[in-house]
Amino acid sequence: SEALRIQNLHVSVEGKPILNGVNLELKRGETHALMGPNGSGKSTLGNAIMGHPNYEVTEGSITLIAADGAETDVLEMDPSERARAGLFMAFQRPMSVPGVKLADFLRHATTNVRNPERKEGEDLIPMREFRKELKDKMGQLKMDVEFARRYVNDGLSGGEMKRAEILQMAMLKPKFAILDETDSGLDVDAVKLASQSIAEIGQAEGGDAKMGILIITHHDKLLDQNTPDYTHVILGGRIVETGGAELARELHTSGYDRVRAAHPDAA
Ligand code: ADP
Ligand code: MG
Ligand code: MG
Repeated sequence: SEALRIQNLHVSVEGKPILNGVNLELKRGETHALMGPNGSGKSTLGNAIMGHPNYEVTEGSITLIAADGAETDVLEMDPSERARAGLFMAFQRPMSVPGVKLADFLRHATTNVRNPERKEGEDLIPMREFRKELKDKMGQLKMDVEFARRYVNDGLSGGEMKRAEILQMAMLKPKFAILDETDSGLDVDAVKLASQSIAEIGQAEGGDAKMGILIITHHDKLLDQNTPDYTHVILGGRIVETGGAELARELHTSGYDRVRAAHPDAA
């Protein structure tokens, strides 16, 4: 089946090694939770997968496996090619350009992903078609259509950014989605809605195949509707333990002391 395979990944930021040999395989249709203390390298893994220029891969591989087994080297692709290949991690305060509305941002991003042949300056997805799809998706996600008129850069609160992230995922329909602390800054009701929305988008049957989802979280609420098939614990830039949903529950209840004590070399 289609998969995103990460093997012995080493990543440095500004010359400093952050990831020290990460192995992880995410198949379509699976949900994985990635947990670990602050600064352990969770976001670094996401950024490296997406091809963020500040994250230098010094060793190892990131590979997309197609349904027929064909392998594509992700490290050879630039970030926009990775998005077209079906990889997704939401923007975090994306643009230096002021005055971009969420709808405009989504129309550009959607066009980029769906129309790989498009050159800079060529047509975007037709407005009517885009608007209809956006409206449908916002309805499904119980969002007010007015929300899409807001400015991305200075018009959205932290919680609204997180909702925008879920809308972005719904529009782009990636094969593999990385959700980096999508629950941070959300109140209890909002996390519940986010959890439900992610499950609906990720597990959609019919036209769209299921996604592989990597959920980076410190909480267990987002996992309520997205029971992880696997939970990985990252410590000091390495995955030191992998378990099932019960591991996420344990860490949420008891913290990382046990894991740290079991892996003193990583901690
Ligand atoms: P996590 O998401 O698990 O909290 P990060 O991946 O953000 O951890 O960070 C891991 C380590 O890498 C930290 O020590 C952090 O300071 C460092 N780091 C990550 N991104 C950068 C960056 N852009 N510039 C400098 N240091 C960074
Ligand atoms: Mg190594
Ligand atoms: Mg992080």
